[in-house]
Amino acid sequence: MNDRVYLDWNATAPLRPEARAAMGAALELAGNPSSIHAEGQAARRVIEEVRDQIAALVGADPKLVTFGSGGTEANNLALTPALQVGADKAPRDRLLISAIEHASVRAGGEFAPDAIEEVPVTAAGVVDGETLVERLTALARDGRRVLVSVMLANNETGVVQPIPEVAARVHEAGGLLHVDAVQAAGRIPCDINTLGADLLTLSAHKLGGPKGAGALIRREEAVHLPRPLVRGGGQERGLRAGTENVAAIAGFGAAAEAARRNLEAEGRRMTALRERLETGLQAATPKAIIIGAESPRVPNTTLVAVPGMKAETAVIALDLAGFAVSSGAACSSGKVQASHVLAAMGASKDLARGGVRISLGWSTAETDIDRFINAWINVAGSLLKGIRGMAA
Ligand code: PLP
Repeated sequence: MNDRVYLDWNATAPLRPEARAAMGAALELAGNPSSIHAEGQAARRVIEEVRDQIAALVGADPKLVTFGSGGTEANNLALTPALQVGADKAPRDRLLISAIEHASVRAGGEFAPDAIEEVPVTAAGVVDGETLVERLTALARDGRRVLVSVMLANNETGVVQPIPEVAARVHEAGGLLHVDAVQAAGRIPCDINTLGADLLTLSAHKLGGPKGAGALIRREEAVHLPRPLVRGGGQERGLRAGTENVAAIAGFGAAAEAARRNLEAEGRRMTALRERLETGLQAATPKAIIIGAESPRVPNTTLVAVPGMKAETAVIALDLAGFAVSSGAACSSGKVQASHVLAAMGASKDLARGGVRISLGWSTAETDIDRFINAWINVAGSLLKGIRGMAA
């Protein structure tokens, strides 16, 4: 298994060594972070140091960082009609989401299904600004109180959404904005104030921390969540009850810190690697379509489709050849379905089942890319054989 090449970093990133070390040290701490004795306070210190590290990654106030079990939980915590801003305590009654959100946003949190509306995206995978403004204006006219959720980077295409502009439109219409930054954090700058997000979601395992930790970050203290999801204890300033997962939080902080320190250099290196990859893919399979390539993208993600080539079959063949990639969205149920992201971008049914996602990370090397391209030549060659005019 040692010579396998892992190119599925958007599903999860391998643990960074810094995170492993921090987790090992945290596991040695005996105390409960809520205890007042020295052992408890040592565990508390770890959590508060990580709060500073996470806040630094997104330019936020540390006391507005709430830890939980990951991106899914943070999205669920954010999407609630009960959201308040200062003295404005009336419930939100509409949730607007883009058509390409992750399932944990599409589920709508605490909103009733008939209070949730989808805003389409363009063929380039970017939220349709005109429709967004139309819907915001119409809903404001009807006296609706809107919460909007738009992701910063899409997990399948890597396309980066114009969040500062979205935030400006949402705020002009009196709405609030939640941003799922799970696939963007550690890959591109994610300053909560520059973005203008009222709430921001992060997940540890996408940036080299452990699976099962994440955070919801508020931009201002005035944004208040009066009905937390997990109740029954005062942890996390009453926003998330239960003894904290100190080791996972420690790993999250170390990973965030490493990602922040190397953001620019890793970004540049990743961009060059992806260019090498996409040039190779296009030379090997000239009919390949790099989905979302005309839009700004996070530097680590390529979604490629070749007409006539089924993604599931390609992913299995590549796996057998020693390469871990995925077909569009990771299939949490083990069942591969046509991608809702590609369908929202107007791709044909065939193409929506054809996207192979190749996602890179800090330990990906040029040789990994070159080996992958060789494997792609073989796999595509044999899968496309017999489809006239398709083979490279
Ligand atoms: N949001 C996006 C965009 C994701 O890609 C994912 C994970 O795939 C999540 C949220 C969920 O995060 P977690 O796995 O930490 O629950």
